[in-house]
Amino acid sequence: MSIEISNIHKRFGSFLALEDINLSIPNGELTALLGPSGSGKTTLLRIIAGLESPDSGHIGFFGEDSTHKHTKDRQVGFVFQHYALFKHMSVFENVAFGLRVRPKKNRPSEEEIAHRVHHLLHMVQLQAMANRLPSELSGGQKQRVALARALAVEPKVLLLDEPFGALDAKVRQELRRWLRKLHDEINVTSVFVTHDQEEALEVSDKIVVMNQGKIEQVGTPEEVYDKPSNPFVYGFLGSVNLFHARVNEGSLYLGGTSLQTLDESFKNQEEASLFVRPHEVLIESSDSRGSGIKARILTARSLGARVRVELESIEEGKFIEADIDKESWNQLKKENPSTVFVRFLGAKIYSQNDTWSHYVI
Ligand code: ADP
Ligand code: MG
Repeated sequence: MSIEISNIHKRFGSFLALEDINLSIPNGELTALLGPSGSGKTTLLRIIAGLESPDSGHIGFFGEDSTHKHTKDRQVGFVFQHYALFKHMSVFENVAFGLRVRPKKNRPSEEEIAHRVHHLLHMVQLQAMANRLPSELSGGQKQRVALARALAVEPKVLLLDEPFGALDAKVRQELRRWLRKLHDEINVTSVFVTHDQEEALEVSDKIVVMNQGKIEQVGTPEEVYDKPSNPFVYGFLGSVNLFHARVNEGSLYLGGTSLQTLDESFKNQEEASLFVRPHEVLIESSDSRGSGIKARILTARSLGARVRVELESIEEGKFIEADIDKESWNQLKKENPSTVFVRFLGAKIYSQNDTWSHYVI
């Protein structure tokens, strides 16, 4: 493990910003801290960096207790959303800065600095821009300079706080792929803060889902997406339809429709939460299995190869979001039914005994 975080608590006045955080960050992995605004991601990152100290708890770096170590002794590099590059310095000088300010005995020679900076600029594909000033770069290029600057001092840990948050969607997508590639090329452990689930799912090895100062779940992107440990994680990691269902005598009911027979672990309960992702919703022109929910189509929007369909259930007026492939949509349009039937290919039910079950209808 490269970073071991144990029992960290942090208050700002009476506000509890972090509550009993325990987390192991493996060597060489890219870990995302994912959560809504205010969930404590930046506070945790700053504590890892040594820019903020915890009220209690410990942080170990590579087997050594570093809780009271100064930032400059932690061998960390940072990239922030608005990492102010030195405006009056060229791209080259910005990247060289961390090496130039080293005490003389640790400072590389001019040739060594030039070699290292050019190598980094090559990695971030900005060799041709070495002599430009930051004002002559685009937002995406500036963040690449910030990254090269953070890497110049060869940190063991790279900390990134919403590094692409201020960029437009297309550049952000490009940079996140490129960050992944860069991370794989160099031997570094990276911790990446984001509130964007798609970004976290796409780039990271591990996702730490945070909410209100606590860790809700830690897992690979597949684990947190496919096996969310609670309703918060489920809802945060993508669009979801939430239905208020009830369980009666071994059957799951939505309004008057019996959707599914359940196993004995489900006790009778008046209220059960049923979570269904839009891509798990199937729309049919007839009620093929007798368990469909009668609905009407409100709107349909084409998004590349998929179609996002909004529906309303007839009985309860419940809004339902479906994400289906284009062929299914074209077929449905051809049949042009006045009402349709919605079925679920998969769903999760949150029952009162606090366990999740996944089933396919
Ligand atoms: P995130 O990065 O997930 O958006 P932060 O870690 O920045 O969240 O903040 C978590 C909570 O702690 C927020 O409610 C924020 O207002 C509060 N907070 C953060 N830093 C301070 C501070 N220096 N003083 C007071 N409150 C703070
Ligand atoms: Mg933040």
